[in-house]
Amino acid sequence: MILNDFLKKEIRFIKGVGPIKGQLFNKLDIYTIKDIIEYRPFRYDDLSVVTNVCDYDDNQNKLYFLKILDKRVVNSKNYKIIKLRAIDNTSYCDIVFFNQDYLKNKFDIGKKYYFFGKFKNEFNSLTLNSPDFYKENELKEKILPVYLLTAGLSLNYFRKVIKNVLNELNTFNFEEIIPEFILKKYLVENYKKSIFNIHFPDNFENCLKSLKDLKFREIFTLHLAFSLMKEKKSQKNNIKWINDFDLIKFEVLLPFKLTNDQKKSIIEIEKKLNLGFNINILLQGDVGAGKTVVVVYFLLKAYLSGYKSIIMAPTEVLAKQHFNSITKLLEKINPRIIFIRGGNYKGKKDDLLLLDDEKPAIVIGTHALFQKNIKYSSTAITIIDEQHRFGVKQRMELIKLSNCPNVIVMSATPIPRTLSLTVYGDMDYSVIKEKPAERIKIKTFVRSEESLFKIYEFIKKRVDYGEKCFIITPLVDESDKLELKSAIATYEDLSTNVFKNYSVGLLHGRMKEKEKNKVMEDLKEGKVNILVSTTVIEVGVDISDATVIVINHADRFGIAQLHQLRGRVGRGNKPSYCVLVHSNEISKTTMKRLRILENSDDGFYLAEADLLLRGSGELLGSRQHGFGLFRFVDPAEDRELIEQVKKEVNALIKIEKIENIDKKLLDYVYEKHLKDYSIL
Ligand code: ADP
Ligand code: MG
Repeated sequence: MILNDFLKKEIRFIKGVGPIKGQLFNKLDIYTIKDIIEYRPFRYDDLSVVTNVCDYDDNQNKLYFLKILDKRVVNSKNYKIIKLRAIDNTSYCDIVFFNQDYLKNKFDIGKKYYFFGKFKNEFNSLTLNSPDFYKENELKEKILPVYLLTAGLSLNYFRKVIKNVLNELNTFNFEEIIPEFILKKYLVENYKKSIFNIHFPDNFENCLKSLKDLKFREIFTLHLAFSLMKEKKSQKNNIKWINDFDLIKFEVLLPFKLTNDQKKSIIEIEKKLNLGFNINILLQGDVGAGKTVVVVYFLLKAYLSGYKSIIMAPTEVLAKQHFNSITKLLEKINPRIIFIRGGNYKGKKDDLLLLDDEKPAIVIGTHALFQKNIKYSSTAITIIDEQHRFGVKQRMELIKLSNCPNVIVMSATPIPRTLSLTVYGDMDYSVIKEKPAERIKIKTFVRSEESLFKIYEFIKKRVDYGEKCFIITPLVDESDKLELKSAIATYEDLSTNVFKNYSVGLLHGRMKEKEKNKVMEDLKEGKVNILVSTTVIEVGVDISDATVIVINHADRFGIAQLHQLRGRVGRGNKPSYCVLVHSNEISKTTMKRLRILENSDDGFYLAEADLLLRGSGELLGSRQHGFGLFRFVDPAEDRELIEQVKKEVNALIKIEKIENIDKKLLDYVYEKHLKDYSIL
């Protein structure tokens, strides 16, 4: 068998796995041999040193070498306990196993065994609860990898499977794909050696080195992939832009003056457009920075040039909002705008036909705009709003379906630099830092639930002044249903008690689009003053006289999300307030997170802080969401390495044009990172 076939072999065909266990591996995103050898241990257990019982550590698993003195089985109605009395040179101790009857005959009185676990001092006795154990001659590996597993896959079994796979792998030779001089410069060892070291390390130092080398390889090939993608996409197009439209003409149409950063972004993007190569730009800006008006410039420019342009929002509410605000912004020009609502409505077919009618128009809608059967006449530019809702692959799909040469993606929140280098590595950037001048900083307070009464009194006062208020109900662990329940309960409670003299509205994800729109309209028009909502409100909703947002269970949200929610207020010229309400038991780290928000309203700073505090996994969502680009790299902890390797890749591309780069490397890059992106 050749190496590649071996690496692609499905996990269920490995000895000792089979179809049923195979599915459990699939749950971990392990489908092939390649996947399992690149499954990174999340921790290592150090079994190289034996600790004396008297020096026990109740925080960390340690290895103890103990002689068994006595063995008892305790039966009760619900469980069986095996209890061992043991001793080393320093102390007596106990070892217990719950409901593991089969272990009864594993231990002989008078013999010595290794135990690996954490001692707890309970009932005046030191006890190890369900430790790993090894016979005296059984402990061969001194450092053991620990993997994140799923029910039905035990650690020992998983290690055995990996061992089998690696034994077989050992018979293959790996060809090096990354240029020799780069590997030498960074002292990167060969791939096979690295893989062996991370699963069966002989010491910690080598293991960390190998992990770093694997990260190096991963970043290197990913960035090369991005460069390839960029090059593919930056072909020349034949869009003919009109000449007599510019910033000055645009600003005359607007009810406000553009900020310097807005102008800078428009000029930057326009420069690229004028070169005639396809553009692919990520427009970053904090909440409320005014990204929309920047892209409206290009929607209008395309329209005036005789083309269609598209703006897509992640939700119907947002799409409607874009429709309203764009119609208003451009009212002096009154361009043809085609608004495609979601769902099936009367006349939708005819609306969709308009998209292919060869006449210029600005098209607004949700992702329903991109379906395989929808045809577009020549489209000059596509805007995707609030990108964080879409994964990398989904973004690629959308871009492909729009069949449009120029794409601007607007991010909902600032993205930490290292993450943009990775997740958006195929795009150029434009950043808006400055916010419109009349904005007043939102005052943020961290309060415990006990203060709710006072908070409600405060809300009443603001509403009496004609302002509006959001009350965000808790984020319930991934369960729509519970979230809904908590929102409805809060709504019913507040509207019949505390706020019975006010008009309270309710917004949640299960409502029909029509109902959602109605509530938002009511809020805008003042028919509703207090809106109880789940986090569906998060996305870009713009109500200029909303001045208070109360976020319940703020401790459950990440910094970036809280910042995004906070951005729902302070959009006008009145002082605004954000109250982060936390439950009574709150950990120090969580408190720290909330304090950071209290002290800063700089979205770029907060995004970095969030990344550092939470790690990138949580920030990006799981691999299933299409963000999981890495097996080894953690964008949060590997920031420096990412920057370093990226420079190296760029330098390589400069000296050797992409087509001259070794075919083996390109094939590898294609196979590993690009195959799924049907855009190529
Ligand atoms: P975001 O960047 O969060 O998408 P929006 O584009 O929705 O922000 O803009 C937020 C609000 O600020 C809108 O009501 C918009 O009309 C207003 N706005 C945008 N630019 C300016 C400006 N230069 N001066 C005053 N108001 C502005
Ligand atoms: Mg927006």
